[in-house]
Amino acid sequence: MRVSQLITKTRKDAPADETAKNAQLLIKAGYVHKDAAGVYVWLPLGRKVLNNIIEVIREEMDAIGGQEVVMSTLQRKDVWERTNRWDDKIVDVWFKTAYKNGTEAGLAWSHEEQMVDTFRQHIDSYKDLPKSVYQFQNKLRNETRAKSGIMRTREFIMKDMYSFSKNEDEHKALYDKVTGAYVKIFNRLGIGESTYFTVASGGAFAEFSHEFQTICDAGEDVVYIDDKKRIAVNEEVMRDEVLEGLGLKREELRQSKTAEVGNIFSFGTSKSEPFNFVYSDENGGQQHVVMGSYGIGPARVMGVIVELMGDDKGLVWPKNIAPYQLHITSLGNDEAVIADAEKLHASCIEAGIEVLWDDRDVSAGEKFADADLMGMPIRVVVSKKTLEGGTYEVKNRQTGEITSQNLDNLINMLSNN
Ligand code: ATP
Ligand code: MG
Repeated sequence: MRVSQLITKTRKDAPADETAKNAQLLIKAGYVHKDAAGVYVWLPLGRKVLNNIIEVIREEMDAIGGQEVVMSTLQRKDVWERTNRWDDKIVDVWFKTAYKNGTEAGLAWSHEEQMVDTFRQHIDSYKDLPKSVYQFQNKLRNETRAKSGIMRTREFIMKDMYSFSKNEDEHKALYDKVTGAYVKIFNRLGIGESTYFTVASGGAFAEFSHEFQTICDAGEDVVYIDDKKRIAVNEEVMRDEVLEGLGLKREELRQSKTAEVGNIFSFGTSKSEPFNFVYSDENGGQQHVVMGSYGIGPARVMGVIVELMGDDKGLVWPKNIAPYQLHITSLGNDEAVIADAEKLHASCIEAGIEVLWDDRDVSAGEKFADADLMGMPIRVVVSKKTLEGGTYEVKNRQTGEITSQNLDNLINMLSNN
């Protein structure tokens, strides 16, 4: 891709009302557009990063047997009335609307009830279990606070998985499998080191749930971390009997601000009972299906990555999710230089390496500043000087390290990434 062809431009300043570092950098670099408070538009560069994150999550969900679906945004009132969650006093984030004939509909803030209502019509025997389904679908939430940039928005894509099991033991095995998949996902996304498996409140249905909390100043949660055991306790359940049950000592924990990037819940039979979601067991008896729910917010993960890795010059992408691996900056209008940059650009495409080439007729200073702002892992300078020397000047965005490499070495290095 040539920068001259990109539909977006970088800009010097973020909107005055944008206070979050993640959104400021993403807006300046042309990855997202802020439409309203808590409402963002995904521009091509941002969409590529979000898609890369989604793809990592999808691979790990598929690897544990998840089957992908897409539920609807329009939600039936009667489905939510079954669990008493249509009521605005019980769920305070609903956006609601109505059909022309006056029938009320909700805009999905969650898909839990609809999942139960749908899959009770496909699962009826012990032979059908266990199963899990997942989706990447918009959630619309009338969040009171929307001040953390893309980390808390009023419209966002969630990955939500649901598991259906015969009994608690089968459920527990699946729950542990999803936990393992989540650890892999956050490692692959480059935030594994700063992300902690955290014991949290179980809500209405279970004593505890688990969250994946990433250390981040812009986060809204507070957890207490045991560094040796690599687990944490959310402040909401920080009680002596909880610590005792986990074998943790208060004086060995350190407090930290964190952002919840994912969570996993057990529902028991609390969801299947109101829907009469049952299966027939080996003896011809009827049993309620045991369920779990597992969320990740891909955009919140992206915001956290920007918060953790971005520096005073701009974005810094880990190579697994960068929109482009290589950012070519060609300097000046010399024909031989442009021809050489074109050759490098073509060689990358041929080798299957995602490449961005700043082919604009602007100053070297502007090109370098934009390359730093946009944050591709590797920047290469093509100039009269590099042409004469026969090697490119190659800079690592994260470490700042500069090396000289010829075409073959460079392509090799990027291919083996
Ligand atoms: P929070 O306590 O932060 O509001 P939640 O308990 O509402 O999160 P879930 O409804 O279970 O979270 O959502 C699953 C995941 O979706 C969360 O772990 C988080 O990563 C992400 N998420 C939740 N709300 C938002 C939001 N408003 N914007 C972006 N991502 C979100
Ligand atoms: Mg919430």
